[in-house]
Amino acid sequence: MEECPCCGWPESQVYEVLSRHLTSEGVVTYTRCACGEPQVRVQPFGPGEVVAAGRADVPPPDRP
Ligand SMILES: [Zn+2]
Repeated sequence: MEECPCCGWPESQVYEVLSRHLTSEGVVTYTRCACGEPQVRVQPFGPGEVVAAGRADVPPPDRP
């Protein structure tokens, strides 16, 4: 488990999420530690993982 080098806060516990972006490499999440240190983490797309963006197999909704 990774820990913040500044205060030892475990990185598995997100203190505050600043923003989250979908990129071609995965989900990039900008977080802030309890000590105020900004952190960037990248969660790569894994096999079988459900990704909300970029679905092309959803039919358009029926509208009157
Ligand atoms: Zn910290």
